[in-house]
Amino acid sequence: MIVVTSVNGRVGIEAAVEILRAGGTALDAVEAATRLVEDNPDDHTVGYGGYPNLLGQVELDASIMDGRTLQAGAVGALQGFRNPISVARRVMTDLPHVLLVGEGAARFAREIGLQEENLLTPTAEEVYRQGLSNQLPTDKQDWLQDGIQSNLARLTNLAADPEHAAGTVNFIAQDRDGNIACAVSTSGWAWKYPGRLGDSPIIGAGNYADNRYGACGCTGWGELAIRCGTARSVVLYQRLGWGLETACYQAMHDLVVAAPDPANAMMSLIAINREGRPVGMTTVPDKTYVWMTPDLQEPVEEPRLHVELQKVAERGKE
Ligand code: ASP
Repeated sequence: MIVVTSVNGRVGIEAAVEILRAGGTALDAVEAATRLVEDNPDDHTVGYGGYPNLLGQVELDASIMDGRTLQAGAVGALQGFRNPISVARRVMTDLPHVLLVGEGAARFAREIGLQEENLLTPTAEEVYRQGLSNQLPTDKQDWLQDGIQSNLARLTNLAADPEHAAGTVNFIAQDRDGNIACAVSTSGWAWKYPGRLGDSPIIGAGNYADNRYGACGCTGWGELAIRCGTARSVVLYQRLGWGLETACYQAMHDLVVAAPDPANAMMSLIAINREGRPVGMTTVPDKTYVWMTPDLQEPVEEPRLHVELQKVAERGKE
């Protein structure tokens, strides 16, 4: 039994381990832990308090996958509900679908009785206003008004704001019966184009779990993980018989072809193999991840293995 998470999942990992200790399922553990992160107003990359899109609307993406049955549920661009992971789980259990987006996802959240609320906290709103205008040169400030009226596309480069862009929570758990589940939740890139989905709600890109081989959850530049099918690659490479680390390295190396500038291709992942052994990997130096087993009193924070994509790209050219 184990729970593995990105560092911002620290607020939820002990609750998840408690569920496993009490004999609960991996699915219950990852959902409960993710909800705690979504409820945390100080985390501006997930759930309530997340940074909004270019129009100032908080749009949430999340997915959950059951490694026992390969069932999955996901929501994208969901507005007005702070726990997209629970909506995703109900998509998985109550509907013959995997992914609901936008107004359809909100409608379903209402139908299952979830409380609607404004997710834009005063702090996030302030950073949004300042962030947009600080990044635009003085002679382009009118783009803001204009953009909101008619040309938002011109503002999408602001979504690469390095101060605020990144963040997602990943949870992987393996329960007493050996079942694996993976949950991923995010408010996506700050100042994104409305309706933009990242990798988090895309099964195979930001989330994949299969009891027979392992699981993987991603954070970082979602478009890259979508184009390379990163989470599924990690699991598939294990299916091919490669060890956990080799599988993760290969999935990271795959990004090189898709990344215009490998030195700045931001991608991090956590993964486990079918025995429940964890690993964290990243293209960003000095990042950590967290794991905990029921026999421990507190979580262990460990460095992620670092992949220098620039070097991988240079080697490829030799
Ligand atoms: N992967 C997320 C997305 O692209 C954001 C992140 O993890 O930084 O929406």
